[in-house]
Amino acid sequence: MKTYDLHTHSTASDGLLDPTTLLERAGARKVDVMALTDHDSVGGIAEARKAAALAGVHLVAGVEISVSWQGQLIHIVGLNIDDSHPELLQGLESLRNRRDDRAVRMALKLEKIGIPSPLQGAQRYQTTDILSRSHFARYLVEIGKADTFDAAFKQFLNPGTPGHVSMEWATVAEAVTWIKDAGGKAVVAHPGRYRMSEVELHRFLNDFIDAGGYGIEVVCSNLDPVQIDRFARVARTYGLRASKGSDFHSPSSRRELGRLAPLPQDLTPVWQDQHW
Ligand SMILES: [Zn+2]
Ligand SMILES: [Zn+2]
Repeated sequence: MKTYDLHTHSTASDGLLDPTTLLERAGARKVDVMALTDHDSVGGIAEARKAAALAGVHLVAGVEISVSWQGQLIHIVGLNIDDSHPELLQGLESLRNRRDDRAVRMALKLEKIGIPSPLQGAQRYQTTDILSRSHFARYLVEIGKADTFDAAFKQFLNPGTPGHVSMEWATVAEAVTWIKDAGGKAVVAHPGRYRMSEVELHRFLNDFIDAGGYGIEVVCSNLDPVQIDRFARVARTYGLRASKGSDFHSPSSRRELGRLAPLPQDLTPVWQDQHW
């Protein structure tokens, strides 16, 4: 039985390890097949591919796309994509541009309430081409406007606060189409994390499947056995393939590469009939 981990992050988005170190860790932890799924970016795949060969890990090229569905942020993972596919790259770039626009609009709003140089301040914390709300939060703490990182969100960045700017990410149809056109499989990420009623979940899954969605994460590190049961039932009911992934971001968090419960046996895994 191979060990699969089909959801991980590197420094190409908000992970702490660079792709090489991440793959070395996967190898040391006896992960056989690992997908690198950075947020709205495939910038780490090329390096990961080289490191995977050395570490004896099979790398599945992936991405995690930010989607807006009825005002909620949903994540859709794409597995086994062609990371040089033009439409996918264009789509991801448009999401990064939207994020940049938001950063500029956020900075203007923060300036209006007397925060000095918010854009330049946030940029000092930026490590990749993605400038996120976290970077603003760190700056607000640095200049003493908020006591903690969480407080910065509560006072300045969350909906209903002076610095909030709402964001329209990709639609479900766009994200699934980009993934499919790039030869990949679209999978709903960490379904336990969304605040959805059963009815909303049903409507969302119908939209996802209509668009060509393929699978759902049934085992992720934040799911307890009750949740695994729940999403195993969802996979059966909707005929979705089952995936598993740790959503690993850093060695200091509780999520560890490859440390995942087995999928319930009657489910069809996303890797069935694939060569990975
Ligand atoms: Zn996610
Ligand atoms: Zn993730």
